[in-house]
Parts: sequence; C-alpha cells; structure tokens
Amino acid sequence: MTTTADDIATGLQPEPLLSELSRAGAPGHQLPRLDVPEVDDLGGQLLRVELPLPEIGELDVIRHFTHLAQRNFSIDSVFYPLGSCTMKYNPRINEDVAHLPGIAHVHPLQPDETAQGALRIMFELQELLAEITGFSATTLQPAAGAQGELTGMLMMRAYHLDRGDTARHKVLVPDSAHGTNPATAAMCGFESVPIASDANGNVDLDHLRSELDETVVGLMLTNPSTLGLFEQRLPEVTSAVHAAGGLVYGDGANLNAILGVVKPAEVGFDCLHINLHKTFSTPHGSGGPGAGPVAVNAKLEPFLPVPVVDRRADGQYALDYERPRSIGRLKGFHGHFGILARALTYIRMHGADGLRTLSETAVLNANYLRVLLADAFDLAYERTCMHEFVLSGRRQKLEYGVKTLDVAKRLLDFGIHPPTIYFPLIVDEAIMVEPTEGESRATLDHFAAVMRQIARECEDSPEVVRTAPHHQVVGRLDEVTAARKPILRWPGRD
Ligand SMILES: *Cc1c(COP(=O)(O)O)cnc(C)c1O
Repeated sequence: MTTTADDIATGLQPEPLLSELSRAGAPGHQLPRLDVPEVDDLGGQLLRVELPLPEIGELDVIRHFTHLAQRNFSIDSVFYPLGSCTMKYNPRINEDVAHLPGIAHVHPLQPDETAQGALRIMFELQELLAEITGFSATTLQPAAGAQGELTGMLMMRAYHLDRGDTARHKVLVPDSAHGTNPATAAMCGFESVPIASDANGNVDLDHLRSELDETVVGLMLTNPSTLGLFEQRLPEVTSAVHAAGGLVYGDGANLNAILGVVKPAEVGFDCLHINLHKTFSTPHGSGGPGAGPVAVNAKLEPFLPVPVVDRRADGQYALDYERPRSIGRLKGFHGHFGILARALTYIRMHGADGLRTLSETAVLNANYLRVLLADAFDLAYERTCMHEFVLSGRRQKLEYGVKTLDVAKRLLDFGIHPPTIYFPLIVDEAIMVEPTEGESRATLDHFAAVMRQIARECEDSPEVVRTAPHHQVVGRLDEVTAARKPILRWPGRD
C-alpha cells in the first residue's frame, strides 16, 4: 500500500502548556501540618510572590507529564535501530539489583571495611571486563565513552613521556571514526591526523604507513568500525603502528559484535574503552548516566587512574591509591556505581556462552536486515556486516529529491525510531542501522517492510516523504536553535 497526500492526517494537537492549564485557586499541593515552630527568617525580601507559578491540581499535573512522556520514542516502546548506539533491551533484573538498598545507598566515603560488597562488585567487574577483552587490568572510573577515551589517551601520553619519548604529538584517526576520537586527541594537546578508508571500508594501509613516524602517539581504531565492518587486515595495521613506536587505542564503545569471539588485546590493541551503557545494557540516551571503563595491557597498567580496586592477600577488598605513575583521578569518587552494578548483573546473567550467543545473534540480525534492504537502498559496502550496517540514500536523493532526513522523519509516522543518519561522514546520505540481538524476527520483518514502503513512496509520492512526519505532534524542528539556545527555565526566556 502506498500512501498518497490525501491520506495525510492533519496531525495531533500539541500538549497545552502548564500555564494554559492553570486556574486561579486550584490547589496544586498539600503540605503536611507543621511539626516544628513556624519561623520567618527570610524576612520576606527573598520571596517572589509575583512569580506566575501555574495553579493546577495534582491529578492534572500527573496527566500532563504522563502525556508528554508517552510522546517519547524509547527502547521500551518502539524499535530503535540507532546505529552505533546499541539501543538494546535493558533487563529489569539489572534495575532490581541496582536498587537494592545496600547498592543504592552505599556512600562513597564509607571506610573500605564497611563497603566490602560494593568493592567486590567493582573488583569482579574489573576482572570480567579484563577477561572479556583479554587485557590485564581495568579502570571503572570514566563516566562515559568519551571520558574513557580521554583516560586511555592520557595513559598513552604518560607511557611515552615515562620513556623519555617526548617528540610524539600525532594521533592517527580513521575518517570513519566517531567524532569523540579526534576531540580526545585535541584535549590531550595532540594533533589528530585523519587516515583514509579504502574502497572496502578498511583503513587504507598505504596512507597509514605514510603517516607513521617517530612523532606518532598512536592510532585510535574502532573495530568493528562505525561502518559495521571488521578490519580485514588488522594484524598489519596494529603491527605497523607498533613498529613505529606508537600504541593502538581501541574504541570499544560498541563491543556488541565480538563478545566471546574476539579479544581485542589478542589482536594488537594496547587499551580499549568499553561503553557499559551500550554493550552491557544500561538505559541511555539524552546524555543519561553511563560508564566507560578502560582496559589496558601491561604497558599501560602503571598509569591507570587512582584508585584501583584491589583484593589483598587476606581476601579483603581495598581501594589502592599507591600508584606513583598513575595519571591521577579522572572523576569524583569511583565512577557511576549504579551503572557498574547493572553491567555486572548483565554479564553474570548471560555467562560466557550467553555473551557469545548474544553477539552472534546481534550480527545475524544485522545481516538479515542488510539483505532484506539491499535492493531498496544502496549498500555503502557490499560486505558481511557485524552489529550494524550502513545504507546510503543517495539514489533517493539524486533521482527523486528525497533526502535521508526525510526518510528518517517518515519512519516516525510508522512508530519507529529512525536509524542514525548522516554518520559515518564518509558515506553520502548515510543510514546506519543497528537492530541489536534483542529484536524478534517479526520486528525485523516489519521494519524491512516499512523501509521498503518508504523507498517505494520516494518513487511514487515523494512529497509524502519530503513533508513527513504527518502523525506526530511536532514535525520538523529547528534543531540548531534548540541546541544553541535551549529554553531551560519556566515560563520561558525573560
Ligand atoms: C558512543 C560512542 C562513543 C562515545 O561514547 P559516549 O558514552 O557517548 O561518550 C565513542 N565512540 C563510538 C564508536 C561510539 O559509538
């Protein structure tokens, strides 16, 4: 069935503002009776009685915010194939564990002997992440992937300086990399040098070799890459960097394709950050809390941030600050502990075999969709993919004047969160699809059918796609103004 312009509904009404719902005298609160003497130390001058606060009953406030929340697209409500973000199911058992009083209420300043359980959680997670990645040690401190990158790169800098190797200032970053990679190099005072990708989506080895010299700090490599491709000449890439005295940084934000299959430490990486809020199932999005632990080999271990969680000879867990060559502290206290508890639960619930099955299923699901969509849109690279694949909407743009942004907006009408678009930058009109392991075949088939319908609409009724979404409260937002000049206070700008 193809939609025509006549089918287009006029759209839903936006939710009224709280101020519009306000009725003078409607009680919005019920304070308990005072059980202490009443005092008025403020003297009135700090009270702003003229503030136009809305007056709305409690039930209406709840309905207002519930309606707004229901308009969100979330992993719990819709298919959410946001490439490289691994929007996967967050099992509720993770939440149950993170909310146990002993975990939720532990205080970071408690003496070690009263926080043995919490330290054990951290120690076991450090060990498990080292086992999964093949490295010898892990820090759990970084708050997110980007901070993990900063941590890893600061350790690489410390490693070179410790050896008296002071001329190194170039960080090589493939052109398919996430934007945080060059940003990280810049934050460490280094120069980032883009490395081209070849026709198969691999690092261009000749270009890489031509940039390698005694000024290179190292290479930041995402494998599988953000194109969803496994680097085909990985040993040559990593050994070329090592031969020049550089280190290989692994961007493991997304490990969803390789758990139990490949250990990055065994294929030439020196360190790797891992996004627990992607691979290890923590709710994320909109900049919510995350964790970006970094695993390292013996070369970088002395430089780990303090404290590291240690198990002493007597079996007690302790925070180790006695690390003279440490790069110091990256984050207040010990990282986002609740996220760490969720990740440990997730790993333990799966076990080694379960993690491997998870990755195999994620790869299978992505390839299934890739094949179903290969004739509807152009494939950026004709190769078996890993956890994600990249389509290009260039045909739709050139032949029918429909942009990838339009296709993404049209998906909203079908109740599907759009894939990542316009990234990686090296693919024209990129559409990056990551279904994850959790989706049923029925969901994957439905998504493929919708994408194929949209591809047909691009040919038959491009205006429908160009003007989408038609069934959402808001359509095309001024995203630049929203990002640059957000209105974060009520009732708006002064
Ligand atoms: C998500 C991602 C990052 C950044 O992680 P944050 O937690 O958002 O800082 C870095 N690299 C890649 C490849 C990613 O997908």
